Amino acid sequence: MSVTVVQAAYVVAAVLFVLSLAGLSKHETARRGNAFGIVGMAIALAATIWLAAERAADPELTLALIAAAMLVGAGIGLWRARVVEMTGVPQLIAMLHSFVGIAAVLIGYNAYLAPGALPSSEETFHLVEVFFGVLIGAVTFTGSVVAALKLSGRISANPLVLPHRHLLNLVALLASAGLMVWFVLTHTAMPLVLMTAVALALGWHMVAAIGGGDMPIVVSMLNSYSGWAAAAAGFLLGNDLLIVTGALVGSSGAILSYLMCQGMNRSFVSVIAGGFGTEGTTFEGDGTDYGDYRESNAAEVAELLRHAQSVVITPGYGMAVARAQYPVAELTACLRARGAQVRFGIHPVAGRLPGHMNVLLAEARVPYDVVLSMEEINDDLPQTDVVLVIGANDTVNPAAIDQPGSPIAGMPVLEVWKARDVVVLKRSMASGYAGVPNPLFYKDNSRMLFGDAKETVEALVKLVRP
Ligand code: NDP
Repeated sequence: MSVTVVQAAYVVAAVLFVLSLAGLSKHETARRGNAFGIVGMAIALAATIWLAAERAADPELTLALIAAAMLVGAGIGLWRARVVEMTGVPQLIAMLHSFVGIAAVLIGYNAYLAPGALPSSEETFHLVEVFFGVLIGAVTFTGSVVAALKLSGRISANPLVLPHRHLLNLVALLASAGLMVWFVLTHTAMPLVLMTAVALALGWHMVAAIGGGDMPIVVSMLNSYSGWAAAAAGFLLGNDLLIVTGALVGSSGAILSYLMCQGMNRSFVSVIAGGFGTEGTTFEGDGTDYGDYRESNAAEVAELLRHAQSVVITPGYGMAVARAQYPVAELTACLRARGAQVRFGIHPVAGRLPGHMNVLLAEARVPYDVVLSMEEINDDLPQTDVVLVIGANDTVNPAAIDQPGSPIAGMPVLEVWKARDVVVLKRSMASGYAGVPNPLFYKDNSRMLFGDAKETVEALVKLVRP
C-alpha cells in the first residue's frame, strides 16, 4: 500500500465518521451510524498501522509493539464494555476523555523532545503546536478525571468554591500565555513543564467548581475538549485523519454543549470558562423548613391510579439504578388496558446520560409515541390526574423556578406539581444529584411512596392489573 492509498483510506474513513455522526442523531438510524463508525475506525487503524510499519526502521518490531499495545488496550476495553452497568457509562466516558487528554500531553512532549522523528514544520509554529497540544490535553485530562470521580460518586458533586475562583482561572490563562512566549523565545523545557502544571490545576479547578446539576453540560464540553486535544495531536503527528476526526468530535461536542446550554438556560461562555454553577455553598432555601410530607402506600396509590383518566410518568436516575423500566412498561400497559391515557415526560438531563431514559424505555418496549419531551408534556400537566415521579428528583424540583439563589435556578424542569396528584417513588427524603432539597415532596398534592422503584412498581402492577 502506498502513501496515496493510505491517504485515500483516510478520506473514506473521514466520510464514514461524518455519516456515523449523522446516523447517531436519530433513534431510527443510530445502529447504522454506529456501524459506519466501526467500519471507519477499522479502515483508519489498518491504514495507520500500515503507514507506521512502512516508515519504521524495523517494521517487524514496530508491528509487534503495536500488536502488543492493541491487545492490552482492546482486552481492557472489551472487559470494561462487558461489565459496565448502564448507570456507570457516564464515568467510563469521562475516563476515556481523560485518556485522550493524557495522550495529547505525551505526544506534545514527544514532539518537543524528538522533533526530528516527526514531520518537520517551521520551528516557531511547531513549538506553538506543542504548547497548545499539551495545554488542551492537560486541561482535558484532569477535568475529565474530576468529572469521572464526581459522576461515580467518589467525590462530592457539590461545587468547590475557592475564594476568587474566576480570578484564579484568569491568572492561570494569563500565566500560560506568558509561558508560551518564554517557551517560543527560549525553546527550553522549563516553561513547558510549568505550563503543564498550571493546565493540570486549571482543568481540575474548572470542573471541581461546577455543581452536580450542571455536570451534563460539562461532560459534553469535555467531549469537545478531547476532540480538540486529538486534533492538536494530529497536527503534531502530521496525521490528517486525526486532525479531521478531532475537529469533528470537537465541533460536534461544542454544538451539543451549546444546545444543552440553551435547553438548561445556561450561558455558553460561562461554561467554557468553568465559571457557572453557584457563587457560594449556601443558597436560598438551604435549611428551609418545608413542613411535613405525606407518606403513602401501594394500595392507596393503586386506588388513585385505578380512577385516573390521565397519568404522566416522569422517570429519573432512580429508575435506571433500580432497573425498574420493565415493571414500568408493564404498569403502563395495565393502565392503558384500563382505558387511562398514559404518557411519559422526559427531562433532557434525566438520568446520567443524554437520552438515558429514552434508551431504557425503548429497551422495555414502551411505545415511542407516548414518550414525550419536557416541552411537549409541561403544558398538559395541569390537566393531568396523576403524575408518578419514578426515581427523579432534580428534574422535577420547583426550586429551579421559585428559588433564585438555588444552584439549579433557571434550569427548566418538569412542572409536575401542577397535576391534581403527584406520587414520588424513591427510597428516602434524600436530595438528587445536585444536592438541592426538593420542596415538591412537601406540597399538599404530593405523596411519597418509599422503597426501591422496581419493587414498588411491581407491587403497583399487581394491584392495578385489570
Ligand atoms: P436525581 O439524580 O436528581 O435523583 C435521583 C433520585 O433517585 C434520588 O433522589 C434517589 O433518591 C432516587 N433513587 C436512587 N436509587 C433509587 C432506587 N433504587 N429506587 C428508587 N429511587 C431511587 O435524578 P434526575 O434524573 O431527576 O436528575 C438527573 C441529575 O443528574 C441532574 O442533576 C442532572 O443534571 C445530573 N446529570 C445528568 C446527566 C445527563 O446527561 N443526563 C449527566 C450528569 C449529571 P433516594 O436515594 O431517596 O432513593
